[in-house]
Amino acid sequence: MVLIDGKKVSAEIRNRLMRETEELKRKTGRVPGLATVLVGDDPASAVYVRNKNKICQEIGFQSFGKNLPAETSEKELLELINELNENDEVNGILVQLPLPEHIDSEKILLAIDPKKDVDGFHPINVGKLSIGNALLTPCTPTGIIVLLDYYGIEISGKHAVVLGRSNIVGKPVANLLLQRHATVTICHSKTTNLEQVTGQAEILIAAVGRPNFVTSAMVKQGATVIDVGINRVDGKLTGDVDFESVSKKAGFITPVPGGVGPMTIALLMENTLKATSV
Ligand code: NDP
Repeated sequence: MVLIDGKKVSAEIRNRLMRETEELKRKTGRVPGLATVLVGDDPASAVYVRNKNKICQEIGFQSFGKNLPAETSEKELLELINELNENDEVNGILVQLPLPEHIDSEKILLAIDPKKDVDGFHPINVGKLSIGNALLTPCTPTGIIVLLDYYGIEISGKHAVVLGRSNIVGKPVANLLLQRHATVTICHSKTTNLEQVTGQAEILIAAVGRPNFVTSAMVKQGATVIDVGINRVDGKLTGDVDFESVSKKAGFITPVPGGVGPMTIALLMENTLKATSV
């Protein structure tokens, strides 16, 4: 069994981005800029946003942290998004989700200029992904493909099973796998005979949001198992895969933490540089 080391791969990506950013500055004088928008004081969201700003600075990007109070109105937030759309120093805009209930997230995501949509959630970019010509694709799913490539795991012609059909992980990762010529099955809470379906997977992606959901009985011998899940169990980060048992059967497997998680942020930075370079 090979342990897929997302920490190592993401550090390599960040180092490469640092060099490319330096070169961009030298050649064009341009400095990539990422604006993070946080509304309210959810502690987990605050940690994510702080981390993103810190990594931005390490790579050499400009970071614009916009932290707004929970009572910010939808109109005020839309005004801020418009300002960021107009600001030439801002190449990427990330609105940290979830937003407070009185704000319609869909409306906010629609307001972001698709060229600055580094999360890849704008319907224009979702549509482009689905027809196969997107520049900005969602970070976690793209990070998964980068990991598969890094470890030389063949995608073309393989049967990939995706557990989960969310707009942020399940559907986009299924689309990316399809683009890379995998035969893709998507499972969800209404799927019957789940074990039978996942048991056929040569590549199994678990994005269910339930701790230790994937057991060894659901996994084919030698399969590549990618665990996207981030669940807190007794204060400990736990994936969607029962690592203990599944790692004995898998050919390749990601740990939690240290697998997919660190890739998400590295791909966000990659998207910001891409958005600057167009
Ligand atoms: P969602 O809750 O949006 O989606 C979960 C999916 O799992 C749904 O499609 C749901 O089906 C399906 N599901 C739930 N229960 C079952 C079941 N018993 N059998 C089969 N399918 C089931 O989650 P996300 O996609 O947003 O996230 C998934 C996990 O990944 C979470 O743990 C999240 O924290 C983590 N995550 C990690 C990231 C990272 O950077 N590593 C980034 C984003 C998410 P249905 O549609 O029918 O309800």
